[in-house]
Amino acid sequence: MRVTQTECQRKANDFLSENWREFSKHCGNWGTFGGDFDYDLRITCKACERNEPENGRASGFTSCEEKNNKNIFIIICVNRLADLNELDRTLRHEYQHSKDICSCKQKCKITSQGSNEKDKDYCEDRACMEIRAYSVDGGCDNPPPGKTKEQCIKDGAKRSLNTDPCKEIAERVIDAVWEECYIQDPTNRPPFPR
Ligand SMILES: [Zn+2]
Repeated sequence: MRVTQTECQRKANDFLSENWREFSKHCGNWGTFGGDFDYDLRITCKACERNEPENGRASGFTSCEEKNNKNIFIIICVNRLADLNELDRTLRHEYQHSKDICSCKQKCKITSQGSNEKDKDYCEDRACMEIRAYSVDGGCDNPPPGKTKEQCIKDGAKRSLNTDPCKEIAERVIDAVWEECYIQDPTNRPPFPR
């Protein structure tokens, strides 16, 4: 059954309050004197436009506000969700991205597309984030017949890297970072390794 916008937003708000402590532990940077909390996370359900994001098929995406990139936004494209299971999966998937964006800020190429960074580095970081998100979102816990969990996760990552400049080299970069990025035990998530 399709998910309504109200239902989606209610679930998203519940998800956020359930995970808020973990998020602030992971992304917060409380100063010695009780200083500022570094990152804010918001989740919004809405009907997404045709080309939003770039490849226009994703059930959700995560981005940073341009002016203040410490505000992380998860957008759930409610018009592309098949059912509530897909909503759960999408929330877990995008939530993993939002935490990795915090870990990434200082050291990843993920936030610097269009600068001098080589496409390969940028795409390896993106591949790593997708492998991590598909490892924990539950969508590959019961892979389709004839597929292993690993193949299922790699297929997902490949779909997510289906835009420039990573499209052409997706398979290669996914294989290259698989070992260091795959999360075997989602209850014990390693930090972003790159
Ligand atoms: Zn993703």
